[in-house]
Amino acid sequence: PHTTPKISFLECSIYIVYDKNLGTIGVLVEKQLDPKKYKKWNDDCGAVDGQNPFENRAGYDMMHAPLDAFAESDEESEDDSSENDCSDDKVDDDEVFTVADIPQAFSHFTYTYTKRKLLVCDLQGVLSTTTPPLFELTDPVIHFMSRRKMKSIFGRTDRGYKGRNDFFRTHKCSPLCRMINRRWIRKVGEHQRSSHLDDLEEQISNVAF
Ligand SMILES: [Zn+2]
Repeated sequence: PHTTPKISFLECSIYIVYDKNLGTIGVLVEKQLDPKKYKKWNDDCGAVDGQNPFENRAGYDMMHAPLDAFAESDEESEDDSSENDCSDDKVDDDEVFTVADIPQAFSHFTYTYTKRKLLVCDLQGVLSTTTPPLFELTDPVIHFMSRRKMKSIFGRTDRGYKGRNDFFRTHKCSPLCRMINRRWIRKVGEHQRSSHLDDLEEQISNVAF
């Protein structure tokens, strides 16, 4: 457990700067991650175990090392919602997952936890070897399932339902996905899980562009 990496996203700021040639521009500023260790952990359509976008491959020995196995005694039935969920996938019962499973399970978690309103993917960044280890991620893609058919709520990379479908077409649930679902998501009230997103579309449609 204390060896299981956590997921974090970099804090970022927007600096408004004046440039002699460009005039007033906004610049997104965040901590620089080590380019030698930078990699994609999943892409915006669910591909796994990313290729390093940089030439220099970081050799993650940890990558496929099994983490502490969890004893799973709880025999609750599978996720009750099966639309675009991976609950039909048969998962090995050995309850072992790898470091590479963590970003995949996180993406799946964001979808289930928000009651299928959004999916965070295209996870990229660095796995730091601090204690405990930490995924420092940046520049994710968020696909938002707009009931009002609004597009690009989270920017131009938001492909909504299509992005979601692409993700689940290739996503294979690991035991970690099931553990998160059983042990955590179900214990949080339905309302708490997505109420902060309920008015999002309305708020956005009220913004004058
Ligand atoms: Zn999954």
